[in-house]
Amino acid sequence: MPRVEAGPERQAPTTWHDRPHQEALEALAASAEQGLDDQETSARLARFGHNRLPEPKRQGPLLRFLRQFHNLLIYVLLAAAATTAALGHLVDTGVIVAVVFVNAVIGFIQEGKAERALAAIRDMLAPKATVLRAGRRQTVDGEDIVPGDIVILEAGDRVPADLRLLDTRGLKVQEAVLTGESVAVDKATTPVAGEAPLGDRSCLAFSGTLVAAGQGRGVAVATGAATELGQVSALIAEVQSTTTPLIRQMAVFARWLTLFILAASAAILLFGLTLGDYGFSELFMAVVGLSVAAIPEGLPAILTVTLAIGVQGMAARHAIVRRLPAIEALGSVSVICSDKTGTLTRNEMTVASVATAKQLFTVSGSGYAPHGGFSLAERDIEAGDFPLLTGLTRAAFLCSEAELTAQGDDWHVVGDPMEGALVTLAHKAGLDPAFERGAHPRTDSIPFDSQHRFMASLHHDHSGQAAIYVKGAPERLLEMCQWQHHDDGRTEPLDRDYWHRRADAIAAEGQRVLAIASKRTPWEHSALRFDDVADGLTLLGLVGLIDPPREEAVAAVADCRAAGIRVKMITGDHAGTAQAIARQLNLENTRDVLQGTEIDGLDAETLSRRAAEVDVFARTSPEHKLRLVEALQASGAVVAMTGDGVNDAPALKRADIGIAMGRKGTEAAKEAAEIVLADDNFATIAAAVKAGRTVYDNLKKAIIFLLPVNGGESLSLIIAILFGLTLPITPVQILWINMVSSVVLAMTLAFEASERGVMRRPPRAPGEAILSAFVVWRVAFVSLLFCGGIFGKFALAQAQGASIEEARTVAVNTLVVMEIFYLFSVRYLNDTSLTLRGVVGTKPVLIAITAVTALQFLFTYAPFMEAFFDTRPLSLLEGLQIVAVGVAVMLILELEKRLRQRIFGTGRTDAPQSPLTARPRRS
Ligand code: ADP
Ligand code: MG
Repeated sequence: MPRVEAGPERQAPTTWHDRPHQEALEALAASAEQGLDDQETSARLARFGHNRLPEPKRQGPLLRFLRQFHNLLIYVLLAAAATTAALGHLVDTGVIVAVVFVNAVIGFIQEGKAERALAAIRDMLAPKATVLRAGRRQTVDGEDIVPGDIVILEAGDRVPADLRLLDTRGLKVQEAVLTGESVAVDKATTPVAGEAPLGDRSCLAFSGTLVAAGQGRGVAVATGAATELGQVSALIAEVQSTTTPLIRQMAVFARWLTLFILAASAAILLFGLTLGDYGFSELFMAVVGLSVAAIPEGLPAILTVTLAIGVQGMAARHAIVRRLPAIEALGSVSVICSDKTGTLTRNEMTVASVATAKQLFTVSGSGYAPHGGFSLAERDIEAGDFPLLTGLTRAAFLCSEAELTAQGDDWHVVGDPMEGALVTLAHKAGLDPAFERGAHPRTDSIPFDSQHRFMASLHHDHSGQAAIYVKGAPERLLEMCQWQHHDDGRTEPLDRDYWHRRADAIAAEGQRVLAIASKRTPWEHSALRFDDVADGLTLLGLVGLIDPPREEAVAAVADCRAAGIRVKMITGDHAGTAQAIARQLNLENTRDVLQGTEIDGLDAETLSRRAAEVDVFARTSPEHKLRLVEALQASGAVVAMTGDGVNDAPALKRADIGIAMGRKGTEAAKEAAEIVLADDNFATIAAAVKAGRTVYDNLKKAIIFLLPVNGGESLSLIIAILFGLTLPITPVQILWINMVSSVVLAMTLAFEASERGVMRRPPRAPGEAILSAFVVWRVAFVSLLFCGGIFGKFALAQAQGASIEEARTVAVNTLVVMEIFYLFSVRYLNDTSLTLRGVVGTKPVLIAITAVTALQFLFTYAPFMEAFFDTRPLSLLEGLQIVAVGVAVMLILELEKRLRQRIFGTGRTDAPQSPLTARPRRS
C-alpha cells in the first residue's frame, strides 16, 4: 500500500499527458489494482483539501445590504427626504429615512432567506463518483477524491477530477465546459505530444466533463482548484438565477408602473401648482405620497421569497428543482411521461418463474431473502435434480454484478435490483455465490445498456474452459441465438415461435422477462466484443420477474388524472409486461401499446396523433423518448419527461420539464433536467406538480393582495389632489402602511398550503399572463372598495366631530384592518374563506396579524408615533367601527366569490374566470 511519504508534496502544475500512465501512478504513489487505502485517503484529504472548486466570490453582506437601496423608488424617496430636509420638515425627513432603512433590512433578510434556500438545494445535488479503494469499488462523494485515487468512469458520469487514463473501452467524453466543443471526443491511454492543446490531450479526462459513452479508469492527478476546470472556474461559476418568467414579467410591470407614476406625479405637481390650492411643499409631499402609494415596490421581493419557499418545500418532499422557472411550468404540465421500472414500480424484483425448453418452474418466496424453492406443475422439486435449471441459474448469476447484504433477515441489493433477484435465485437453487464467482472468474464484460438491451460476460474457469454468458431482453437474445438447450443436455436448433409464446405468456402476467444464453469460446479469448455475441448463442431459458407497482404511484396516477394530466408510461420492457402494469396502475388507455419498432415506422404527423392517444410505450430506446416528446409537444401538450441514462439527456432537455432520477440517474441526465427526484418515485412528480400549482397560486395571491392596497391609496390621493380635498392619509402614513404593514401581511402568502381543488382543475394554459382578466378585475374591484373605505371612514369620523389628525388615524387603521380581512379572503381565491380552516388561519398568518395589530396600536397610541406620523389616540367605539368596515369588506368579497362561481362554474381558480379569459377547454 502506498504510504503518504511517497506521495506528492503538493499539487504542482505538472503535465501528465506526454508520458506513459505508469509514470503518473508512480509519481502519485498509486496502485491501479488496489487504489488507495482508507488511511492514505484521509491523509491526502488533509493534505490537499477537498475536491471542490473555490466558492465563486459572493457579495459581502454590506454590499448586499447597500444593494437594497439600488431601486428607483428608493431614489425617489431619498430625493424626497433631501427636499423635505431643505424645506425644513425634519420630522418627515426622519420618517422617510427610517422607513427606507427598515425596508432595506426587510429586503436584506428576505433575500438571505431565498439564497439560503437555493444554496441548500445546490448541496443536495452534490455529485458522487466511483473509485477503487482498498481493492474495492466504492461510491463516494466527488468532494472526497484525492490525488492518486483510482476513478472508474461509465457513460453518464461526470468526471470528478483531472484523470490520467489507465484503460479505456470506447470512452468518449463531452468536454464542452472546458473547450466549448460539443462533439464528444475519443479517449485513449497513449501519451500525446507535450504541446498538445487541451482538447487533444486524449489520455486525460478533465474534471467537470461528461462521459458520453464507454467506460474507463484513471488515476486522479489533480483535484479541486488544481484541475483545469479550477483554473477557469471563475468563468463558469454556476449561479442559479432567482428569476422566472413570471417574476421578470412583474419586475417589468413594476418598472413601467413606476415610470408612469413618476410622470403622472410630475404632471399633477405642475397642474396643482397652476391651480394654486396647495402650497409647494404641501403639494410636493402629496405627490411624493402618490408615488409611494402607487408603486408596488415590495412585490418583486415577495414573489422571489414565495418561489424560494416553494422550492424549499418541494426539496423537503424529494423534488429538487434545478431551474426555478420549472416551478411555473409545472402548473401547465398536461402530460407526464414516466419510466416504468423503479419509478412507477417498486424496483424490488423477485424471480417468479423460470422457463426452459420443455418446462415452466414456479419460484416461491418474496423479496431478496433466499428463502423459497422451485415447483413444477404444483409439485415442489429440488433444483439440483434439474441440471438445466441449475445451469441457467448459474449463468444468470455469473452474468450479474449485484450483491446482496443482509441485516438479520432483512435482505438488500447493492447494485441493479433485477440482478439482485438473480442472486437470490441462485441461493434458492442451492448455489453458493462466493464459490461460483471464485470457480468462474470473470475476465471481461459488455455492460447492459438500454440501447442494445443485453449484458454479456466472459469467464475462464479453473478447468480450462472459457464461456460467454448473456442475459437480456428475449426479442434481442432470440436474434442472437441459434440453438437451445434441451432438458436432457442436448443442444438442438432454436424454436423461436415457442420462445416468443413463452415470453408473451410470462409478460402477460405482468412479469419482466429476461432471456439467458451461453456460448463456448476458445481459451485464448480474453476481450469481449460485440461481434463475439452477435450470433451462435445457445438459449438456456427465460426468467420472469415480478416488480409490483408502487402503491403511492397508483394513487398519484389517480391524482394526475383528476388534475387533467395524462400519464404515459415509457419502458424498455416487453409490451405484455408494460400493459399488465399499466392496468394495475389504472392508466387511461391500456388497450393500445405502441412499440419502439412501430414508432420508427411512423411519420411525424401520425406519431403525433398516436402519441397523444396511446399511454403505454414498450420496447423503446432513449431515441424514442426524444421523438415522443416532440410528437406530444406538436399535439399541443406541455410535457414532463423522466429519464436516467446518458442517452435520455436530449429528451430531458427537449421536454418542457425534464425530470431526472436522483438515485439511479446519471450525472448527464441530472444536468439536462429541470427537476431531480431524490427518491426516484413517480408520486413525487405528482406532488411536485401540486406544489408547482400551489406556488403559482401563492404568487398570484401575493399580487392580488398587494396591488389593491397601492390602488386604493393612489386612487384616494388622486381624487383628493384633483378635487382639492384634504388628504385622507398623509404621505408618511402611506409609507408606514406600504413598507411595514403590507409587507408583513403579504409575506404570509408565501407559506400558504394548497387549496382544496388544486389537483381537481385542468392545467393552466401555457403562456397565460398572470395579469389575467380575473386578476385585473379583482385588483380594480378591491382598489375601489379600499378607496371607498378610506374616504368613507375619513369623512364619517370628521362628521362625528373628529379633528383632521384623528380622522387620518382612523383612515390609516381602516385601511390596515381592511387589509387584514382581505388577507383572509385572498387565501382562498375562489372558495369561501368562511370555513373553520379559513377563519382559524395558519401560524404565519396569526403571527403576522398579531404583529401588525401590535404595530397599529403602537402607531395609534404611542406618543413618539404621534410625533412622527401625527396620529391621535382613538376611542373604543371608533375602533369597533373600523373592524366593522373590515368585516363588511370580507362579506362583500365572499359575495363576489359566490356570484362568480354561479356565473363561471365552481372549484376553478385558473380556468375561465370571466368571458374575457374564456378559452376552449383542452380535451
Ligand atoms: P425499463 O424502461 O423498464 O427500465 P430497460 O431498458 O432497463 O427498461 O430494460 C429493458 C429490458 O432489458 C428488460 O425488460 C430486460 O429484459 C433487459 N434488461 C434490463 N436490465 C438488464 C440487465 N442489467 N442485464 C441484462 N438485461 C437487462
Ligand atoms: Mg431500466
